[in-house]
Amino acid sequence: MTIEHLVNLAYIISAVLFVFGLKLLTSQSTAKKGNLMSAVGMFIAVVMTLLIKDIIDYKWLTVGIIVGGIIGAFAARLVVMTQMPQMVALFNGFGGMASLLVGWAAYRVMYNFDLFTATTIFIAVLIGGVTFSGSIVAWGKLATVISGRPILFPGQTVLNSILFIGTLVAGGILLMDAPISPVMLVTIILLSLILGVMAVVPIGGADMPVVISLLNSYSGIAGCAAGLAIQNNILIVAGALVGASGIILTNVMCKAMNRSLSNVLFGGFGASTVQQEGGPEGEVKPISAEDAYFILEAADSVVFVPGYGMAVAQAQHAVHELERILEENGRDVKYAIHPVAGRMPGHMNVLLAEANVSYDKLVEIDDINRIIEEVDVCVVIGANDVVNPAARETKGSPIYGMPVINVDKSKTVIVLKRSMAAGFAGIENNLFYKENTRMLFGDAKSSLEALVAEFKKK
Ligand code: NDP
Repeated sequence: MTIEHLVNLAYIISAVLFVFGLKLLTSQSTAKKGNLMSAVGMFIAVVMTLLIKDIIDYKWLTVGIIVGGIIGAFAARLVVMTQMPQMVALFNGFGGMASLLVGWAAYRVMYNFDLFTATTIFIAVLIGGVTFSGSIVAWGKLATVISGRPILFPGQTVLNSILFIGTLVAGGILLMDAPISPVMLVTIILLSLILGVMAVVPIGGADMPVVISLLNSYSGIAGCAAGLAIQNNILIVAGALVGASGIILTNVMCKAMNRSLSNVLFGGFGASTVQQEGGPEGEVKPISAEDAYFILEAADSVVFVPGYGMAVAQAQHAVHELERILEENGRDVKYAIHPVAGRMPGHMNVLLAEANVSYDKLVEIDDINRIIEEVDVCVVIGANDVVNPAARETKGSPIYGMPVINVDKSKTVIVLKRSMAAGFAGIENNLFYKENTRMLFGDAKSSLEALVAEFKKK
């Protein structure tokens, strides 16, 4: 058996570990095992790749491992849960940049390559570049370094089309004249970086989850193309897995928003629509923690609806404590999870799992909406867009048609937030003015702790 055979055998083992790792990631109880399994698969892949002769300059590899390891270790320790979505956006971007660099390097070191290899290099560089700059813009929007609203200007579609056609033309020249077109490759890199920025700036508001998952998919496709360019089987497999799972997630996110992908990419969230005319009707009814206690005390069924504010307040442990007390008092408690609540797919699930909330208490949007009218109290914990009835009631609202958790249809709603400020989509929420809504203003964690204290006092 040659070393190449051995390496390919190890790659098959790695690929199997990736696939089973992904399978285990689909359930919260097995997710940690799945993560570990995939990491072991990647470790085997990296070590075995190093066995291939002449493939790597060990000096630079060591520098890369040390510098990358230090940055990664610091980032993992310093990044707080609320910054995770931005971190995920950066990870996608770095994945894209890595593929771009692999494509570029392949171009530089290979002298005689066929049309197929030239095509894969072009795809790796193009999609890698788009993923990198697009992810940086997405990071900026999530970190509020730049406005989260869509940035639109006249002639945008025409300009984007020209840029895209220009990139394809440059790619065509590169393919026809591969070995002597370094200028074309640099042109493609620059155009792809501009395209990435231009593709993401018009997207904003509640459409951002789709962008994040789409960029995740792009990073996989770029990796797969880079793998094909340098004929590395495990890179092809890993890239294809990321690309495919990203597309599935994108589809799930589109369904959660009730939008088509083309509408998200070219629609410009809320750009052509108007906010509700005349402002919301009704009055806001603020209550104290003690008032909220009496409402909860009289309820038989309680549904917690967490949103981004729970992540900001780090209120997951406090809500679990309240859930425990309510259950001890014989109440039925559930958590309703909206697929785009928070700032990254699965954000609420991760936080609640961290607080050891039992997974079987988590209910999906369709299931909770089916029974919402029988629920005595919905406690909205820092959620806003995902409970906004404008999605049902206000034609012309930017989120009209998006499935939301219909908390306003339950008997009483208690909203925990600090002010009347809008959520990520920047639109007003009629829920706060509804007859059956009470506002418990303040930091969600402090409010929940105050509620727990009330229960303990009485
Ligand atoms: P929103 O962003 O709509 O609202 C969050 C609310 O939390 C705010 O209104 C804010 O009000 C409140 N809040 C903030 N800090 C605190 C605190 N410390 N204590 C109490 N409340 C707090 O969140 P949702 O989860 O409802 O919706 C998610 C939005 O993000 C959607 O528009 C979605 O499309 C978008 N998005 C989702 C992504 C994903 O993958 N899940 C990715 C990118 C965007 P106040 O300031 O008054 O306290």
